Amino acid sequence: MMGGAPAVPRDIRSVQWPIITEEDRKAVLSVLDSGNLVSNAETETSVRELEQRWAAATGTAHAVAVSNGTAALHLALAALGVGPGDEVIVPALSFIASGLAPLHQMAVPVFADIDPVTFNLDPADVERRITDRTRAIIPVHLHGLPADMDALAGIADRHGLALVEDAAQAHGAVHRGRKVGSIGAIGATSLQTTKNLPTCGEGGLLTTDDPELAERLVLGRQFGEVIESGKARDYVSRQLGWNAKINPIQAAFATSQLDRFDGYERRRQQNIPPFLDRLRPLPGITVPTAPEHASHAWHILRFRLDPAALGLDGVAPSALRKALHRVLRAEGVPMSRYQLMPLPEQKVFTERTGFGSGHPWAAAEGTAAADEVAGSFPVASAVIEDSLTLQKRHLHPDSGPLLQHYADAFEKVWDHLDTVATMARSAR
Ligand SMILES: *Cc1c(COP(=O)(O)O)cnc(C)c1O
Repeated sequence: MMGGAPAVPRDIRSVQWPIITEEDRKAVLSVLDSGNLVSNAETETSVRELEQRWAAATGTAHAVAVSNGTAALHLALAALGVGPGDEVIVPALSFIASGLAPLHQMAVPVFADIDPVTFNLDPADVERRITDRTRAIIPVHLHGLPADMDALAGIADRHGLALVEDAAQAHGAVHRGRKVGSIGAIGATSLQTTKNLPTCGEGGLLTTDDPELAERLVLGRQFGEVIESGKARDYVSRQLGWNAKINPIQAAFATSQLDRFDGYERRRQQNIPPFLDRLRPLPGITVPTAPEHASHAWHILRFRLDPAALGLDGVAPSALRKALHRVLRAEGVPMSRYQLMPLPEQKVFTERTGFGSGHPWAAAEGTAAADEVAGSFPVASAVIEDSLTLQKRHLHPDSGPLLQHYADAFEKVWDHLDTVATMARSAR
């Protein structure tokens, strides 16, 4: 920024994700050559293979592949019978899809604040927001770290609620020896290209141990029809259904990626903790950690920044964040922000356009959910103001050496905190 050489050399900065190998190409071509380009019971071999492999990988009895992670969350709520007039508790910090899924089923999302360290649902706040209309909780394993499933399962049991895990950022993460997606009634994840288990486009996966829920998910995915191998399709819709089938090419690509997933995951676990260890001693920055009872899938790293710890009294956290964002990017570290506001402040929730005529909120009139005001999520708001992230493809399994250059850049910036302080103080 001041004219010197950046800490991260320009020629090593580019990272490609997904990593596409000859095996992935062969998997895609074999579906093209098979001529089986739609999924149904006769021809969905690549879809069934992905489902069997994912059920085995997560330790669940059933996996159902669908068109994307958002559809997966929606189908999960539909299969559980969540509908109009019901409330679903969702974390105030997540990707928008976690909050939209209840709306897709005409239920009202009720947001709960997050924990300031894990960034996942705060169980105490979840409990405060339960009403007699609450039917389900969507714990999101945000950034790759499993939510507090012990506390949330306890709450769900006490109040008779279903847990739908949103594991779209946490493929392969483990909580007390169990894979995420295998703990709640249903687990939903995404295969979208940027995720830790990517396909060449869009895809999603559901997991459950309950055969009846699995059947409802399958019917929901395909017009409510039962399509059985060896039997002629009867075109009878047995329940409300959608068309949320996955493309067999994308299923084959994802299965090919799954062949290498464990190796990629091991490399993330080798690359990222040593990088975080180099940042941890720097004052004024809190780096993410995994507790002893859980593993972190390191999909996103979020760093909280504290002006007071740098002696910058009177400087707003957002001013420090903006200064560090500029300086670190100038050094070649691709710092970013993930989520610019708490979910409940997104227009879709504040303006309540929904399905028109005030629905689905009108069905919950007079309840806490209908009266909920934006701004009542102090932790999510503070975290968004005082943190920066490193995301997704920059945490690529081959990025070990690059991450060490990022750490050089952080150390260099922390050696020049006077410059950062001047910038932060002069920020409007
Ligand atoms: C990506 C994501 C989704 C949605 O997945 P899509 O496949 O993009 O629809 C849902 N929840 C979270 C937390 C995500 O990160």
